[in-house]
Amino acid sequence: MSLQPSNNNSLQPTPKSRLHNLGFPRIGAHRELKFAVEAFWKGEQNEADLLATAAELRKQNWQRQAGLDWVPVGDFSLYDQVLDLSFTLGNLPARVQGLEGSELDQYFRVARGRSANDSACNCVHAGEMTKWFDTNYHYIVPEFSAETRFSLNPNRLLAQIEEARAQGHNAKPVLVGPITYLLIGKAKDETDPLSLLAQLLPVYAELLKLLADKGIEWVQIDEPALVTELEPQWQAAFRTAYATLSDSGVKLLLTTYFGQLRDNLELAASLPVAGLHLDAINAGDEVAAVIEQLNADQVLSLGVVNGRNIWKTDLSTLLDWLEPVARQLGERLWIAPSCSLLHVPVDLNNEQALDAEIRSWLAFAEQKLDELRVIHSALNAGRGSVAAELAENLAALNSRRTSPRVHNPRVQKAVAAIDAGLGQRQSTYPQRAAVQRDQLNLPLYPTTTIGSFPQTPEIRKARLAFKKGELKAADYETRMKQEIKFAVRQQETLGLDVLVHGEAERNDMVEYFGEQLDGYAFSQFGWVQSYGSRCVKPPILFGDISRPQAMTVNWTRYAQSLTDLPMKGMLTGPVTILNWSFVRDDQPRSVSCYQLALAIRAEVQDLERAGIDIIQIDEAALREGLPLRRGQWAEYLNWAVEAFRITANGVADGTQIHTHMCYSEFNDIIEAIAHMDADVITIETSRSDMELLDVFDEFRYPNEIGPGVYDIHSPNIPSVEQMVKLMRLAAERIPAERLWVNPDCGLKTRQWSEVIPALQNMVDAAKALREDK
Ligand code: GLN
Ligand code: ZN
Repeated sequence: MSLQPSNNNSLQPTPKSRLHNLGFPRIGAHRELKFAVEAFWKGEQNEADLLATAAELRKQNWQRQAGLDWVPVGDFSLYDQVLDLSFTLGNLPARVQGLEGSELDQYFRVARGRSANDSACNCVHAGEMTKWFDTNYHYIVPEFSAETRFSLNPNRLLAQIEEARAQGHNAKPVLVGPITYLLIGKAKDETDPLSLLAQLLPVYAELLKLLADKGIEWVQIDEPALVTELEPQWQAAFRTAYATLSDSGVKLLLTTYFGQLRDNLELAASLPVAGLHLDAINAGDEVAAVIEQLNADQVLSLGVVNGRNIWKTDLSTLLDWLEPVARQLGERLWIAPSCSLLHVPVDLNNEQALDAEIRSWLAFAEQKLDELRVIHSALNAGRGSVAAELAENLAALNSRRTSPRVHNPRVQKAVAAIDAGLGQRQSTYPQRAAVQRDQLNLPLYPTTTIGSFPQTPEIRKARLAFKKGELKAADYETRMKQEIKFAVRQQETLGLDVLVHGEAERNDMVEYFGEQLDGYAFSQFGWVQSYGSRCVKPPILFGDISRPQAMTVNWTRYAQSLTDLPMKGMLTGPVTILNWSFVRDDQPRSVSCYQLALAIRAEVQDLERAGIDIIQIDEAALREGLPLRRGQWAEYLNWAVEAFRITANGVADGTQIHTHMCYSEFNDIIEAIAHMDADVITIETSRSDMELLDVFDEFRYPNEIGPGVYDIHSPNIPSVEQMVKLMRLAAERIPAERLWVNPDCGLKTRQWSEVIPALQNMVDAAKALREDK
C-alpha cells in the first residue's frame, strides 16, 4: 500500500505553526487612556502620571497577549500611531518645530493644535485628520513639502521594546511601511510624496538596522496600501523600497489587511521580505495563489479571525479550511487576527447587561486572542486538544444560526418582495416641486437648520437620570417637551421658515434609532477609538431589523402642534445607521441595509400620516461606506442609494424629502447623490467658498440644495455679510429658486448663546438675499 503524502504527514509531527498578533486596542477596557490624556490636557495630571498610565496599559495589554509567539510593540499610542511614526521619522510640520515645551507638548500640539487662549500661546493649528482606510479610525495625516527632511528618532520604539522584553515577551515591533506612509500623507505644496522616497528609505533602513542590533528578529511592516488600486509608479516604489530594506538584518513581515491584493498580488508575493501577512477574512480566495508564489523559505501569516467585527469565529469551519494549509506550510504558517484589534472593543467579560444569548455569540479583542489560541492548539496538537472549546464554539454558533431573535421570516419576506417600484417617487422632481411650492408656500431662500439644537448639560443630566431609573418616564417626557417647546419658540422668534424639534431626546443619531429597533443590541463598554481620546460605541446589529412601533412621531407631532410653520421630521437614514454599527457577518451588508430601509420607510410614512410635510433623512455616513477600491464603488452605491430611495420615496408628491450629508466631496459620486432624488440636500460648504457647488449644476443635480453657510464646528458667529457673500457665490452657480439657507450641520455641540446670534444673522442674510431679486 502506498501512503498518500497527506497520510504520511499525519504520521510524522508537522512542524508547528506560530501565533502572533498585529496590534491591540490601546484605549483600555474602561477607556483609561482617554481619561488620562484628557486629564493631562486639562492640567489635572502631569506628564509622569500620564506616562505611568500608558506603561500600565501596555503591560496589561501584553499580559492579555501572553503565550503568543510574538507580541506587537509600537502599536500603543498616546494619540495615533501614524503621528507616532511621523515623530519617529523626524517629520514634524514646520509650524511646530522649535517651539518650547517637552516632546510630549510638541506631540499633542500636532495632534490637537493649540489656540490663542492657551497660556504660553505658541498657537498652531492641528494636523489634518482623516480615516484610516475604510475604518472609522482617524489618523493624523503626515505633512510633506519641498522642505521635508527625515531623521531618525527611535527612542519611543526602543524604550517600548525594552519594556516588553523586561516583562518577558518576545517583541515584534510594528511600523507602518514607507510606501503606505507616503501614500496616506499629503503634500502642502506641489511636492510629489513619492519624490521623498529616496530620502525616506535610509531612515527606515537605519531604524531596522538599529532594531537588528538590539536582537530583534521580526519586524511587522504594515503596508495596507497594497489592498488599494496602485498606480504603476507606486507599485514600482514598493519594489525599490523593499529591495533597499531587504538587507537590514531583521526579517520583515510585510503586512496587508482590510482587503484583497488583486492586481498587487504578484507584486506583494515577489517582494524580498521574509514573510507576508494576508487578511484571510477578506482575501481567503487569494491564499492559494499567494502560497504558490512565495519562496519555500517565506512565512505566510494568515489573518483568520476578523479584527473588524465582534462576532465569534466559526472555528470548526475555519479549521476545515486551515488544516490543509497548515500541513502544507508547517512552521511557515503563522496565524493572527485579520488586522490590528484596534478596531474592536477590549473585553466582552465586562459586559454585564448584555443579553446572555447574544453575548454568547460575541468576541471582543481578548476573546479573539482566545480563539486564536484554540486554533493554534487545534493545528499543532489536534482538535482533540481543544475539544471542549470547539464544542462550546459550535453550540454558540448554532444558537446564533437558529435563534428566532436573529431570524424573522416576516422581515425576510418583506426584503424579498422589494421591487424597483418601492424606491420610486410618484412623480418627477419638477412635478413634485410644483406641488410642494403650492402647499408649503415658502419664500425664496428658505431658512432652516439641520436638526439638533444644543444638548445642554441639563438635557444630558435628565437623560442619565431617566436611564438610571431616577427620573420617571412621564417626567422625562415632560422635560424633553419643555426643551422642544423652547427650541420651537426660539426658531419662531428668529424667523426661520422651516422648523425642527431640536432632537433633545436623542443621545446619538444612530443609537436613538437602534434602541427602538428590534435586531439591535447595546454594549456597556464596547468602545472603539475613533481618534485621539475620542471613542465610539457602535451598536450591534445582530438580527433581522423591524420596527415595533413609531420612533419619532410623538415628539414630532408635539413639536408641530406648537406652531403653524412647517415642522421638519428628522430621521437617520439606513446607510448611516448601517455604517456606524457593528453589522452582521451572516448576510450581505446590503440585506441589512434594506431591512433598515424598510423600517425607516415605515417611520417616514407614519410621519407623513401625522401631518408632517417635510421629512429629513440624514445620510451623514453614506460616503464613508465607499469601498477601498474604486472598482467596487458602483456596487456599493447601487444598493446604498436604493436603500435610501426605498426609505424616502414612499410618500406623496407634496411631502418634501430632505437629506443631509456632512461633507463636501461630491465630485466622484454626484450621479449617485442625484439618483437619491431627495427634494432638498443640505451639505457642508462653509469653508470652501462654494466652489464645490460646481458639480451640482442643473444637468448633474437638478433638485434643491442648502449649502451650509454657518460653520458649526467653530464657536465663531458668522456675520450677515459673510453669509450673504457665500450665498451670492452659490447663486452664481445654482439658480436662487433652488437654494436654501442653513448651517453646515446640527447644532448639538454648540451653546444657545452662540446659536441664537448666528441664526439671527443667517435669517437676516436670507432677507437681504431676497431683496437682491
Ligand atoms: N440631524 C442631525 C443633527 O442635526 C444631523 C447630524 C449629522 O449630520 N452628523 O444633529
Ligand atoms: Zn452633518
